[in-house]
Order: sequence, then structure tokens, then C-alpha cells
Amino acid sequence: MARVAFIGLGNMGGGMAANLARKGHDVRAFDLDAGALDKAKAASCLPAANAAEAVDGAEAIVTMLPAGAHVESVYADAVFDRAPAAILIDCSTIDVATARRVAEAAAAKGLTAVDAPVSGGIAAAQAGTLTFMVGGQQEAFARAQPFLAAMGKAVIHAGASGAGQAAKMANNMLLGATMIATCEAFRLAERLGLDLQTFYDISSVSSGQSWSMTSYCPVPGVGPETPADRDYQGGFAAALMLKDLRLAMQAAGDVGAATPLGRHAAELYEAFVAGGQGATDFSGIIRTL
Ligand code: NAD
Repeated sequence: MARVAFIGLGNMGGGMAANLARKGHDVRAFDLDAGALDKAKAASCLPAANAAEAVDGAEAIVTMLPAGAHVESVYADAVFDRAPAAILIDCSTIDVATARRVAEAAAAKGLTAVDAPVSGGIAAAQAGTLTFMVGGQQEAFARAQPFLAAMGKAVIHAGASGAGQAAKMANNMLLGATMIATCEAFRLAERLGLDLQTFYDISSVSSGQSWSMTSYCPVPGVGPETPADRDYQGGFAAALMLKDLRLAMQAAGDVGAATPLGRHAAELYEAFVAGGQGATDFSGIIRTL
């Protein structure tokens, strides 16, 4: 078992660090928030006074931070010159350009870094059932894989540096667009006089089927239990969907990809969040249709 530094113990990182400790790793944890540190301590991690202290002597350094700027500053301030032998594993959802820049900066210091964003929410982080999509060289992937496997159910090598974030952007743009399309389809079926359970029974085994329909149905009482059955609380907050759609649009702009539906999904979530629904599950957008 290894010494692992874990920086960023929020909604996601708290559960992930706990799983690394549960698997027997010696986890040195740091977060700016004292409450998050206390929770990590209760989950058998050793709280550090600052990021640099967590990093000293670590074989792997996992970060789970809000955005690219946080990752760049933590790496520059506390990681790059203190961890000559560690594999750097950033699990945050950040923009592709920053992920590549960070990997290059790490390589210039003789370090190995991967971007390893996750699919799955807070419950999956706690249960250790996340999916990781990993960008980096094969050798870097091989070094990161055992640590990621301790926190997830699937660890997939997506390609070179930034490819993990690229996969995450493309996947979540698809998710945002299919969720809105699924909501629209239910509303149309309803207006046309169909019973919603009957429409689900048909569409869930027809060509309109998608994960948004059969695993995350936005209609209460239809399909498996989802946030729709809990008044759209819990689940995947609309603000986070908007964050991912903005990152996808930024990446699409950088490479000149045409994403008209992704752009429109971003606009609709923008309005939803601006209307005070940022904490509502993203399937709650059905209420605006
Ligand atoms: P969060 O805000 O709950 O946690 C982020 C943590 O980072 C906070 O505890 C904060 O105090 C800490 N932090 C910020 N700057 C720091 C610094 N310089 N040093 C140490 N700690 C610092 O966010 P979250 O929901 O855990 O999400 C983390 C990442 O995972 C984000 O990039 C998010 O987009 C991504 N993600 C979240 C979900 C989800 O369902 N919440 C799902 C998939 C991916």
C-alpha cells in the first residue's frame, strides 16, 4: 500500500479519499475547509496542515478541485517542486487546454501527470463506483490505474494528455442535450394525450431510448427511482451540468467543432440556473418546458 496525498475533500473528494484509506492506503489529506478535513480524519485519513505537507513523501497525489485555476495553483505552489517520484492524478473536471498545460508543466519538471475526470456523482464517489476516463501516456496510465481502481468501478484510458477531459466534455454535452430532448418528448406526448407511463413503456424499448430516459427518467413515478421522485433534489446539480456544458463549448470553440445542440443545451441550462435552480437536479429542467 502507498502513501497518497489527497487535496480537495469536498462532495466528491471526501468519499474518494475515504475509499483510498479503506483500501489500506496511507492517505494524507488536505482541504482549505476545516469541516472537510474533520470528515476525512473520521474516515481514517491523516489531515495535513497544508497541501505541501500532504504532498511530502507521497507516491501518488490526487486532486479533486473545483476548476482548472485551482489545480494549476495547487500544482505550482505545493506539488511541482516537492514530489519528485509521485504520479499526479487530477480527477477534477477542468478545461482541456489547462489539463494539457498542466501535463506539459509536470513533464518539464520530470514528473508524470494524468487527467482523470469522473462520471458518477456523490453517491458513486462514496460507494467507490465511479468511472474514470484517463488522459496521459500509457506508462502514466499504468501508474495511476491501481489508485483509480480503488475509487471506481471502471478505469478507461482515453488517450494522450487532455483526452480524459475531452471524453468527459463530449459525454456530458451528450447527456445535457439528451436530457432536454427526453423532457421535451415527455411533454409532447402528454400534450398529445398519451399516458406518460405508456409513453415510457414504448420509448424505453424503441429508438428514442437513452440513459436519460431509462436510468434517469425526468418524470416522477415513471421508470426507476430518480431525483424526479424526490422533487428533483440530490442527484447532479444543474449548476454542475452548466459548468460542464460551458467547458464543452469552450473546447468546441478551440477546435472549431460544430455543436449547435450542445450550445442550445448550454443556453437552456444557463437560463435554468439564472432562475435560481442551480442546486436543482439537472432533470428538473422539465419544469421549464
Ligand atoms: P466541492 O466544491 O464540493 O469540493 C471542492 C473542494 O476543494 C472544497 O472542499 C474546497 O474547499 C476545496 N478546495 C478548493 N481550493 C482548494 C485549495 N487550493 N486547496 C485545497 N482544497 C481546495 O466540489 P465537488 O462537487 O467535490 O466537485 C469536485 C470536482 O469534481 C469538480 O471539478 C466537479 O466539476 C467534479 N465533479 C463533480 C460531480 C458532483 O456530482 N459533485 C460529479 C462529477 C464531477
